[in-house]
Amino acid sequence: MRSLKFLGTAGARFAVSTQTRHSGGVVWRLGGATIWIDPGPGALVRALSSRPKIDPSRVDALVLTHRHLDHSGDATAVVEAMSRGGFAPRGTLAAPRDALETEPVVFRYAQAFVARKCLLTEGGRHELAPGVVLETPLAHDHGVETYGYRLAVDGLTVGHVIDTYWMDALPDAYAGVDLLLVNTTRARGRDRRYLHLGADDAEALVATIRPRIAILTHFGMQLPPQKAQAAAQAISSRTGVPTVAARDGWLLDLDRLPERPRPGEAAGPGAR
Ligand SMILES: [Zn+2]
Repeated sequence: MRSLKFLGTAGARFAVSTQTRHSGGVVWRLGGATIWIDPGPGALVRALSSRPKIDPSRVDALVLTHRHLDHSGDATAVVEAMSRGGFAPRGTLAAPRDALETEPVVFRYAQAFVARKCLLTEGGRHELAPGVVLETPLAHDHGVETYGYRLAVDGLTVGHVIDTYWMDALPDAYAGVDLLLVNTTRARGRDRRYLHLGADDAEALVATIRPRIAILTHFGMQLPPQKAQAAAQAISSRTGVPTVAARDGWLLDLDRLPERPRPGEAAGPGAR
């Protein structure tokens, strides 16, 4: 089964430091590969205690989109787990150069534990496992070196708009995806003190890209579960694209996504 597991939905400092939401990142199962994105503080514990359990020793690739704590706090712990403490080097580690060299969020000794390291770059493309291609189309505007990503496998393309201030290049960079995941940290974006997207920005992305399903995640304190769900529902009804707010622990079956909506079509009763 192709799936997406939310080991966490927390975004930014306070949701993470209070663990109001979990900060374990997300885990994709695609093309037989397990790909863990952005394991923040507590990620290893969330994986081991999730049901069904995510076995860290079976992770094939660890992708860090940037070096902020909520995206990388448990990165060394995950590398040790996926490589049996370095005794069985395996897997791929993909991250921006500044997250591995300037400020190594995977401790330097542990960077040698993976079989392959990939540096993320704007326009970069890496095959993480046979037939599973990772692309980082755009350098985001987020203060440190940051990339969102697209994953393509078996005719399915997913896109994840990671933390950023709004950029006019975003809709094109993530165009054509079946599933669009948007880090929606704030109720409203476009405040340069935070360099995060708001629900208003997420709506602009959903309305332009029109994926089969859009999922909001990486919420800050302004978007507790009920408000996040209300924001997602408002986007669904205004754009006609089924839009959902992710919940901690949620496992989404990627083989059962809704069909692509037609322009102007309202989200039907089957949309969640
Ligand atoms: Zn960040």
